[in-house]
Amino acid sequence: MSEILSQQRVLFGPGVRFEVSAVMKSLGCSNALILATYEQTAVAQEVFDSLGGSSIGVYAKAEMHTPIEVTRAALKYLNENKADCLVSIGGGSTTGLGKALSFRKGLPHIVLPTTYAGSEATPILGETDNGIKTTFSDKTILPDVVLYDPELVVSLPKNMTATSGLNAMAHAIEALYARDRTDMTTEIAIAGLTDLTEALPKVLVSPGDIVAREQTLRGAWACGTVLGSVGMALHHKLCHTLGGSFSMPHAQTHAILLPHTAAFNEQAAAEQLRPAVDMFGGDLGAGLHAFAASIGAPLALSDIGFQHVDLARTADIALLNPYWNPRPITNEGILGLLKDAFSGVSPQKSEGH
Ligand code: NAD
Repeated sequence: MSEILSQQRVLFGPGVRFEVSAVMKSLGCSNALILATYEQTAVAQEVFDSLGGSSIGVYAKAEMHTPIEVTRAALKYLNENKADCLVSIGGGSTTGLGKALSFRKGLPHIVLPTTYAGSEATPILGETDNGIKTTFSDKTILPDVVLYDPELVVSLPKNMTATSGLNAMAHAIEALYARDRTDMTTEIAIAGLTDLTEALPKVLVSPGDIVAREQTLRGAWACGTVLGSVGMALHHKLCHTLGGSFSMPHAQTHAILLPHTAAFNEQAAAEQLRPAVDMFGGDLGAGLHAFAASIGAPLALSDIGFQHVDLARTADIALLNPYWNPRPITNEGILGLLKDAFSGVSPQKSEGH
C-alpha cells in the first residue's frame, strides 16, 4: 500500500488537465503520444493543442478490455513515431491501452481519468487475446502521474456516472473484508465510500457541480487505490465472469451485482463491513440496492441483455478457480445471488457463516 502511494504523483483540480506540459517536463519528457477512445477525440485534441508541439498526436483507438490487436497496432504507431511518454485521457479502456504500451516500452505514463473505474490507481493490467481476458500485476504498470480534473467528468452521462460510481464503491466494499487489508486500506476504503455516497446524488442532480465532481474523483482515487493494494473476492470474480464470458458491460455489471454480493457476505464479514453497514442504514445489501435505485442505476441483469439461460453456466464458471471469499462459496449460494441480481429484487439478508 505505502509502495503504491509513494510511487504515484496525484493532482486534483479544475483545469489540471492543462498541467500535462509541466508534468512532462518534470519527467524529462518532450514528445507525448495522447491516447483516447474514438468518442473522446475532442477532449484529447484539447490537451494536444495545449502542449504546443510536445506531442506526436492523438491516437483515439482505445477499446474496452484492452484487445491485444489494438495494442499491437498502437505499438506499431508508437515505434514509427517515437514518443517518449504516454498520456491517457479516458476511462479504464484508455488507461488499459496506456498501461499495455507503457509496460512494453518502459515509457512514463500520465493519466487523466474521465470515469470512476479506478484503473489509473492500480498496477493491474487486463488484456484480451482471442476472446480470453488475462489479468496480471506488475509494479511498473502503475501510471507515474494522475491528473484528476473534475471538468473532465462533467460530460459523463448520468447512467455512466451512476454505474461507474458504484463500480468504484465495489472496490472499497471488497477491500473492507480483504484478507490482506491493513488499517490504512480500511481507512482509505471508508473515505472513498463516504465521498461517493455524498457526491454521486449531487452530480446526478447537477452534472456541472465542479465541487461535487471533484469529490467523486477523490472517491474514485481512494477506491482505485485499495483495488490496487489488496485482494478482491466474489464480487470481482462474478463481474469478471460476466464480462469475460458473456460480454456484459463493465460498470453496469458491477453496479447491479454490488448489493447482492455485499448481502451475500454481510454476516460472514459483519465486523469488517460495520462502517459500510452503518453508512447504509443497518442493512448493507438493501441499503446499497436502495442507493443504486435512487441514483438511477440499472438494478437487474435482465435489463442489460443477460439471458436467464446463462445463469447456471455463470455459477459454474465462477466456481472454477474461485477467489478467496469471507463466506464459503457454493453453487447453490451463487445461483441464488445471481437469480436475485437477474430479476433486480432487493437482496435478502443472508445467514452466512
Ligand atoms: P470505458 O473506459 O470503457 O468508457 C466507456 C465509454 O464511456 C467509452 O465509450 C468512453 O469513451 C466513454 N467515456 C468515458 N469517459 C467519458 C466522459 N467523461 N464523458 C463522456 N464519455 C465518456 O469505461 P470504464 O468503466 O472506465 O472502463 C472499463 C474498462 O476498464 C474495462 O476493460 C475494465 O476491465 C477496465 N478496468 C481496469 C482496472 C484495472 O485496475 N486494471 C480497473 C477498473 C477497470
